[in-house]
Amino acid sequence: MARVYNFSAGPSMLPLEVLKTAQKELIDYQNSGMSVMEMSHRSPVYDAIIKETEADFRKLMNIPDNYKVLFLQGGASTQFAAIPLNLMKTGKADYVVSGQFSGKAFKEAKKYGDAKCIATSEDKTFSYIPEITPDMVREDADYVHVCYNNTIFGTKFPEVPNVGDKVLVADMSSCITSEPVDVTKFGVIYAGAQKNMAPAGLTVVIIREDLMGNAREDIPTMLDYKTMADNDSMYNTPPCYAIYIAGLVYKWALKNGGLEAMKERNEKKANILYNFLDNSSLFKATAEKKSRSMMNVCFVTGDADLDKKFCKEAAEAGFVNLKGHRSVGGMRASIYNAMPIEGVEALVEFMAEFEKNNK
Ligand SMILES: *Cc1c(COP(=O)(O)O)cnc(C)c1O
Repeated sequence: MARVYNFSAGPSMLPLEVLKTAQKELIDYQNSGMSVMEMSHRSPVYDAIIKETEADFRKLMNIPDNYKVLFLQGGASTQFAAIPLNLMKTGKADYVVSGQFSGKAFKEAKKYGDAKCIATSEDKTFSYIPEITPDMVREDADYVHVCYNNTIFGTKFPEVPNVGDKVLVADMSSCITSEPVDVTKFGVIYAGAQKNMAPAGLTVVIIREDLMGNAREDIPTMLDYKTMADNDSMYNTPPCYAIYIAGLVYKWALKNGGLEAMKERNEKKANILYNFLDNSSLFKATAEKKSRSMMNVCFVTGDADLDKKFCKEAAEAGFVNLKGHRSVGGMRASIYNAMPIEGVEALVEFMAEFEKNNK
């Protein structure tokens, strides 16, 4: 069996150990005589799985008791609508547009109220994170929305933006569980699970309890956080198997030192790659230094044909999915929690060789 080094931005690598456990339990989960894929979500055996998954996630992210954890469907993109539908009370919300996904979230919010873009980095193709100060936020805005890590452009907020006493809402799809975050600084954190936590199909929402129950009357029931919370994410059938895998991933992260250890390892991996890029005469990182993402490292040669050649030869050598997002081109190495340090070291070695051969 030959596993490749998979640099996909999402769905992306899962820890091999997790896949092996899933394989072992695939057709007979803990003597239940069935697969997790086949069991009722209301059965005691599945109830134990979802409860343990939530408990491990809370432990991993240090989530306080006054926050609910919801296991939903529809991807992070569905949250772009759910956020304004649930949180707009005055009908006003402020958005930071630092990339494609935050742009989509902003556009969706405009359908439901007075959404305002208070800062953007569009002027420099989203290669940096704009600075946010409390005076930029409208006094009567219900919340401020940010995308914490911009998956496509490879940028990340260097620190939690200061929005004064406003409710801060963050899309953390591509950085959740990559490092510790102070959950209390956020009103809502949401993430599609397929980047750093599980297969596609699961969306996780962490929401402060007092923010629920203000949804507009005509909100679709499936998007109402209060309904989902009151039913322990079981108003309807949850994405059972993806939740089970997320549970295995959380156990793996806890066993490997939790989020402090994830951060240390992720910093090490990102530094290896950025250090190489900063000293390369062929490759160049595209994100500004102070805004660089630890998870998605974007780079170019400056020559589209050479970029193409690089991706092709890299794939042949076992480094796959390095092509940048179709909207920006170039290359992107997504190095989420499951990517081992050796994967990044081997990639840099390959890049150095490519550089030598393409002078
Ligand atoms: C991938 C991604 C999304 C879209 O997620 P879906 O689950 O495909 O809807 C939104 N935001 C960010 C930051 C992402 O990385």
